[in-house]
Amino acid sequence: MSISRIVLYYAFTPLSDPEAVRLWQHTLCRELGLKGRIIVSPHGINGTVGGELSAVKQYVKQTRSYGPFRGMEFKWSDGGAEDFPRLSVKVRPELVAFGVPEEIEVDEQGVVGGGEHLTPQQVHELVEAKRADGAEVTFFDGRNAMEAQIGRFKDAVVPETETTRDFIAELDSGKYDHLKDQPVVTYCTGGIRCEVLSALMRRRGFEEVYQIDGGIVRYGEAYGDSGYWEGELYVFDGRMNTRFSQEAATLGECTACGGPTSSFHNCRDRGCSTLMLYCEDCRHIPETTRCADCEARLAAHPQDPNSGHLERPRRR
Ligand SMILES: [Zn+2]
Ligand SMILES: [Zn+2]
Repeated sequence: MSISRIVLYYAFTPLSDPEAVRLWQHTLCRELGLKGRIIVSPHGINGTVGGELSAVKQYVKQTRSYGPFRGMEFKWSDGGAEDFPRLSVKVRPELVAFGVPEEIEVDEQGVVGGGEHLTPQQVHELVEAKRADGAEVTFFDGRNAMEAQIGRFKDAVVPETETTRDFIAELDSGKYDHLKDQPVVTYCTGGIRCEVLSALMRRRGFEEVYQIDGGIVRYGEAYGDSGYWEGELYVFDGRMNTRFSQEAATLGECTACGGPTSSFHNCRDRGCSTLMLYCEDCRHIPETTRCADCEARLAAHPQDPNSGHLERPRRR
């Protein structure tokens, strides 16, 4: 049996002809038998592709041969083409859909005006240095609020976001203005959302913004469950949650009984994007019942129960 792998990567760099990059990437992946999802935008590229090890190595080499992608880091992980339903290569106005492409400026160094990058070790140095000065560092969650239900940094601020587009209204609401003169560290799964979020925050008057290089994933590799991270990490694949060690705390609460759990489940409607936490005892409930959103939608449009829902991985 041949060995397979997945690579994850992103680069913020100006692309004058995203459509040409899309065509090239699509042809390259198809010829190498790779599947996955790639977004190309005037601000750069973001992708996750999988296939046979030798093909993925070829892909990395070919992709890096293009000037703007020369220094791009690729994160390797277990898996293969079978982890993706298809190959999708699309041009979008933004790499991460905050809904404000006109606010984002990139140059060869990346996003202009973003927060200072910190390694996991530098995060600890910052917290200690500020504490010595009598100040507290605030961790600011750059993900959808749902993801933070099962894991987040200690005492983190978790904005009320259903999607990344909700961040702008949250930041402009005034709710977080008390943090504008405080040290704030943003974090997300792999770091890409914070590249943009930290710049949007700085534009809005947050004076001291940092971001964790490589996100929660890199932090967890360095400190596991013995640092400032607490709980489990939500991941965008069939597993849905992963932990850094056996000591990981269980922060999530079952929607039905309130018991501890980290397991997200889809409601019974196919294609429903609503994920809710259920414990082992109550996990049959979403398989037999619609979520509140679907019940409401069905009541409003009885002939079309699945309209408007996005595709998400369904837990097996
Ligand atoms: Zn329960
Ligand atoms: Zn539903």
